[in-house]
Amino acid sequence: MVVSRDNIGNLRGWYEGAKDANQAMLLGSHLDSVRDAGKYDGPLGVLVAIAAVRDLYNRGVRLPYAIEVVAFADEEGLRYGTTYLGSKALAGTFDAADLNRIDAAGVTMADAVRTFGGDPDRIAEDRWKGGDLVGYCEVHIEQGPVLEARGLPVGVVSGIAGQSRHQLTFTGEAAHAGTTPMDHRKDALVAASVFVQAVADYAESQAGLVATVGRLTVQPGAANVVPGEVILSLDVRHARDADRLHASKHLIDVAGKIAAQRGIALTTTQVSENGTVQCSPRLSSLMARAAEDLGHATIQLASGAGHDAVEMAGLTDITMLFVRCKGGISHNPAESVTEEDVAVAIDVLGKFLALLAADD
Ligand SMILES: [Zn+2]
Repeated sequence: MVVSRDNIGNLRGWYEGAKDANQAMLLGSHLDSVRDAGKYDGPLGVLVAIAAVRDLYNRGVRLPYAIEVVAFADEEGLRYGTTYLGSKALAGTFDAADLNRIDAAGVTMADAVRTFGGDPDRIAEDRWKGGDLVGYCEVHIEQGPVLEARGLPVGVVSGIAGQSRHQLTFTGEAAHAGTTPMDHRKDALVAASVFVQAVADYAESQAGLVATVGRLTVQPGAANVVPGEVILSLDVRHARDADRLHASKHLIDVAGKIAAQRGIALTTTQVSENGTVQCSPRLSSLMARAAEDLGHATIQLASGAGHDAVEMAGLTDITMLFVRCKGGISHNPAESVTEEDVAVAIDVLGKFLALLAADD
């Protein structure tokens, strides 16, 4: 491959196609991780893509399309609190205002880009300029328990679930923990706790829905003061947008009722809203066929986690292949895959590229 690094920091390897090739296929995933992460979330997809290209090269095979392997620079958004930096640059959706964000050490994103040799003023040039695209394919660990439970090494992703994030503020009244009788309290944390339980109960009762309260800030936060204010996050995901929007609205209504019953004020703000991204039925059925041709049963499953493929979907058709991971554990040093399953993923990706080459 001819390897280059672009201004945002994506590493890109170009494998030339056959003589008359006038299209390109993108393969990739991300190189960054979260803090205290595992080894496979991201890098596995890059390495599997490189292995598939190496196999083509070793066999002297050139396809009717070129391949670009992209190792995306920053998907998790840990340092600057904003995700998909590398894939946004490639998709042409990078927001230049993000260059002014500062990290925990006070370094701007623009300076961080300069430090490794990128030019923050030229990130717009990272946008895809390689001509017509066949699609984008990302191999990734499942980060969930479905493939393990079904005894399958790989699975084909049907789509990437949309996400709604809200911030809810319960405002009661801070008061003395020793002198304020229980029936005189407006305890914001008790109301918030009832809500946290209600979120879990509701999500457990709805197929395909996941809802999470992941952050709570309690004020004033003292052992001897009745909590006056709680700010919490609500993250709602479902593979169907209508179900996600319905669930978000329902849960915010529930929060309102819980607050009203306890004489507590509630304010809510929407933090973000991303629709579900569907994988290409054509590419995904080729992927399923590739697995089946190699003797592996497959299933289609939705991704609850976001991926660079979300951004790539704005540029071209996408497909994803999930690899079984131990216990569904991810974003954790215990993240684990087997060598055998990785070998299956490499073979399936190679077969997929061959089927794609024969498909018109
Ligand atoms: Zn990832």
